[in-house]
Amino acid sequence: MSSISPRRAGPPTDASSVAAPEVDNFVSHTLKTTKALPPITWSNFSKNLNWLNVFILCVTPFIGMFGAYHTKLRWETALFSVFYYYFTGLGITAGYHRLWAHRSYNAGKFLQYFLAIAGAGAVEGSIKWWSRGHRAHHRYTDTELDPYNAGEGFWYSHIGWMLLKPRRKPGVADVSDLSKNEVVRWQHKYYISLILLMSFAVPTIIPWLGWNDAKGGYVYAGIIRLLFVHHSTFCVNSLAHWLGDSPFDDKHSPRDHLITALCTIGEGYHNFHHQFPMDYRNAIKWYQYDPTKWFIWVCQKLGLASHLKVFPDNEVRKGQLTMQLKRLRETQESLAWPSDSNDLPVISWESYIEQSAKRPLILISGFIHDVASFIDEHPGGAHWIIKYIGKDATTAFFGGVYDHSNAAHNLLAMKRVGVLHGGFQQGIDDKSIPPSQRLKIARYAELSSPGASSAAHSDYEEGMLG
Ligand SMILES: [Zn+2]
Ligand SMILES: [Zn+2]
Repeated sequence: MSSISPRRAGPPTDASSVAAPEVDNFVSHTLKTTKALPPITWSNFSKNLNWLNVFILCVTPFIGMFGAYHTKLRWETALFSVFYYYFTGLGITAGYHRLWAHRSYNAGKFLQYFLAIAGAGAVEGSIKWWSRGHRAHHRYTDTELDPYNAGEGFWYSHIGWMLLKPRRKPGVADVSDLSKNEVVRWQHKYYISLILLMSFAVPTIIPWLGWNDAKGGYVYAGIIRLLFVHHSTFCVNSLAHWLGDSPFDDKHSPRDHLITALCTIGEGYHNFHHQFPMDYRNAIKWYQYDPTKWFIWVCQKLGLASHLKVFPDNEVRKGQLTMQLKRLRETQESLAWPSDSNDLPVISWESYIEQSAKRPLILISGFIHDVASFIDEHPGGAHWIIKYIGKDATTAFFGGVYDHSNAAHNLLAMKRVGVLHGGFQQGIDDKSIPPSQRLKIARYAELSSPGASSAAHSDYEEGMLG
C-alpha cells in the first residue's frame, strides 16, 4: 500500500466561498415578486376587518349566550345538540378535510351529498373555498403563503385570519378536481340556502316536531352547537400547530396531542397528518381517539366509501425512527465520552513502565489508564489495582481475575491517558471499545468523512502522558 495518499477534496476553507447561497425556492420567489397589502395598524384596523366573518364568528356567539340564558335546556335537546355537533363536525373532518381537500378515500354519490349537506351546517365556507385554503396550508405550511400560518401566533391561526382581510393571497393550490366535481359544484351553487337550512332550520325543526322544543333547538342545537363546531375545527389550525410533540417530523409546526384530538373529532394527530396527508387516518393506533377515521371505516363497510388510502407502514416507521434517533443523538451529545486513540499520545512500553513508577498507570486493551482517582473506590479492593500498576491487566480485567461489568468498562475508558505503541488492533477487538460506544448515532456526513473512523495511529510518536 502506498504511503502517499492523495489529498482528499474537503470543504473549502476560504470564508467567502463557504457562505450559504441565498435560498431561492418557490415561496421566497413568490414573496419577492408579489405585493402584499400594508401591515394592519390601529389606524387602518376597522377598514381591514372582514365584517361578514366578524358577525358570524363574534356576534352569533353572543346571541347564542343571550338565548341560552333565557332558554331552559331539555335533556332531549342536549342529546340532539351533541349528535348534531358530531354530524356537522364530521361534514368538515370526514368530508371537507379528508375527502375533498386530501382525496384520502373515494366516496359514492350518497355519501358525498350527505357530507356536503352536513358540512354546510358547520358554516365554514363552501367545500371549494375551504379545500383551496387547506391545500395551500399544507403546501406552504408555516410560511406567509399559508392562509393560517401558525407563525403569526395562536390566535391568528385560530380565528384572526378570518376576521382580518389577508395581507396576501394564499399560495397557488390546484383545485381543478373539485371544480369538476358535481357535488362540490352543487354545494357551491346552493351554499347560502344550505347554510340556512342545515345550521338553523333543521336543528330547530327536529326538536320542535320531536319533543316540542323549537326555541331550545334553535338556541342549543343551532347557535351554541355552531359555536362549538367552529372552535373545534379551528383548533386544527391553532392548537394542533402548538400543543404536543412531533413523533414523525419536526421540520414544521404541526404536533400530535390527545387533547387536540378530543377537541377536533380526531384531527389532533396533526404531525402525522402533515407528513402523510393522503392517509385517511390521523391516528394510527387503534386506541387513539379518531372518530373521523372510524366513521370513514364504517362507511367503507357499508359500501359507501372505498379506496381508503394508507401510507406504507415501513415509511411511517422510518419517520418515527428518525425522530427517535434525533432525540437519542441529543442525549448522546449531552454525555462525556472517552478520548479517542487519535487524540491520545502514543507511548512505548519502556516509557509506560518508567512513568507508571511515578503515578498509577494501568494498561488494558492497549490503552493506558490513570487510575489515581479510582484506587480507593474500586469495588473489588484497592490491592487489585495496585497489583497491576505498570502491567498489562487486559486478561485480568476481562475475566482472568474478574469479568467486569459493562459499566466498569465504560468507566475505565474515561480514564484513558495514552495508547501503547503496537499494543492492539483498534476497532476489531471489543475489549478496546467500551459497550456504550459499540452502538452510536452518527450523522451521514460523519460516516463518510475520513476523520470519522477510529483508525489507529500509523506514525509512531513518543509522547508524554497527559
Ligand atoms: Zn395543519
Ligand atoms: Zn389537512
